[in-house]
Amino acid sequence: MLRKSLFTTAALTAIVAAAMIVSAQGPPQGKGDGKGKGDGKGKGGPPAGQMIVKIKDGFYEVTGAGGNTSVRVTKDGLIVVDTKNLGEANYNDLMAQIKTVSTLPVKYVVITHVHQDHSGNTKSFEDAGAKVIANEGEKAELATYTAPAGKPAEPNVTYGKKTTIKLGGVKAEVYHFSRAHTGGDSVVYFPDLKIVAGGDAIVNGAPNIDFADGGSAVEWPKLIASTLKLDFDTLIPGHGNVMTKADVMAYKMKWDTFVARAEEQVKKGTPKDKLLASIKTDDIGWNVTGAQWTPPARLDPFYEELSKAKK
Ligand SMILES: [Zn+2]
Repeated sequence: MLRKSLFTTAALTAIVAAAMIVSAQGPPQGKGDGKGKGDGKGKGGPPAGQMIVKIKDGFYEVTGAGGNTSVRVTKDGLIVVDTKNLGEANYNDLMAQIKTVSTLPVKYVVITHVHQDHSGNTKSFEDAGAKVIANEGEKAELATYTAPAGKPAEPNVTYGKKTTIKLGGVKAEVYHFSRAHTGGDSVVYFPDLKIVAGGDAIVNGAPNIDFADGGSAVEWPKLIASTLKLDFDTLIPGHGNVMTKADVMAYKMKWDTFVARAEEQVKKGTPKDKLLASIKTDDIGWNVTGAQWTPPARLDPFYEELSKAKK
């Protein structure tokens, strides 16, 4: 079914512009560490090497070498979200970064999804004694998932819809709201600090729908809507700079607009090979004509789920 009111371009532009202003005043990137490099400004993004950045008291982000890693320090040990690109050197670098802020052991790790730039060092954390938690979908996808870097290890704990970590008087709530970037996405919420780690389901820029690993465009906006019901002010995306809640609201607006327009095209009978070019995206800034969209392995399931959704 076609969603009713499509947002006007003007309204969307205004909201995105407002989010950008809020974002400019958002959490600092790379300040206060005395290293004076890779401050997240400019177009280059984070540096290739790893760097730990304080987000709030007791909470840090490690950028570089794959997806962003979150680190929650408690008095009884650490909770970590995502583990960098697969490889011993990446794991050692990550631990070296973490040890600059706490020498306590890592007790829990959450893997937001199957991709090796997030799940890569599952085994090293397990070998070091951590409970490594992922959605049961992540574990299932590992059966067929392959990457040039190798195959990440399975998590040693899985959950279905929600699980809660309690450590040192601190809670971390882990949610599988819906399929989105993959079929086993986890969103991690730290209620006392009002911080969310969103994995690759909530990012700056155009999304990447990994249909082969269970991803879904039609389901994706549900994950964002559910995340927005959480009381947070800071979101660590899977890649890119820290986001505010306003940034996430703007991201949801883009998704809702994109899916509504795509469904409208399929409902109108636009053929599959014309679909991507027919979806207006210039006002939301997404390029959907690249290799992450056009191969049959991406386009076929996209068209198919839109065809089902319109009924
Ligand atoms: Zn990913």
